[in-house]
Amino acid sequence: MKKINIAIDGPSAAGKSTIADVLAERLGYTHLDTGAMYRAVALNAIRKQIPLDDEEAIVNMIREMKLEMSADGKVILEDEDVSDAIRANEISMGASDVSKLQGCRAALVEMQQKICEGGGYILDGRDIGTVVLKDAPVKIYMVASAEARAERRVKQNLEKGIEADYETILEDIKKRDYQDMHREHSPLTKAEDAIEIDTSDMGIQEVADAVMEIVNRVLGE
Ligand code: C5P
Repeated sequence: MKKINIAIDGPSAAGKSTIADVLAERLGYTHLDTGAMYRAVALNAIRKQIPLDDEEAIVNMIREMKLEMSADGKVILEDEDVSDAIRANEISMGASDVSKLQGCRAALVEMQQKICEGGGYILDGRDIGTVVLKDAPVKIYMVASAEARAERRVKQNLEKGIEADYETILEDIKKRDYQDMHREHSPLTKAEDAIEIDTSDMGIQEVADAVMEIVNRVLGE
């Protein structure tokens, strides 16, 4: 059967990554978490003490940095597995900061398009349906209330042994939503042809089933 690419966008902690993992498993596709790439850029910049608003220095750093997105979801930066390190709260805000820079976006978008060129990828992020995969036959825009998202993130972090305070996370989510939706370059918006799913009161399998229905319809066409 032909392999398509699937775009999933939406605000932070709407469940994009979890759903992308479930779909990848069901379809035998690969999940590419594009947010993790912005996070890796932020982590590397912080480690190298590069100011997160210094576009030229960040772009030069990206050119030299060795970033591997493994098919099983690991993020390898300079041969080090940073999959957990990039989930820290400070890195979430840092990712949102570097993602404002057009040069940073251009470099990462190019990498993402190259990775999924052959089809069979599920990309989740903020600009997948509007920029990275403008022609994707399936585009999903996942939303959920800020409170529902904060609760999920707290649970997720605690499971991973990462410190999690509900109020701090809720505030961070709201701040990142605002920043991601109001930035100059590729702000988070729903692509015209994307299907919106509000996951506030839905379980993981329920959301996955809804998306699978859309995917199967497209694959059957
Ligand atoms: O999805 P995640 O929360 O890991 O993304 C971290 C940050 O990276 C987001 O807040 C957003 O600013 C940025 N991002 C982006 N475009 C993407 C994916 C993530 O600007 N495609």
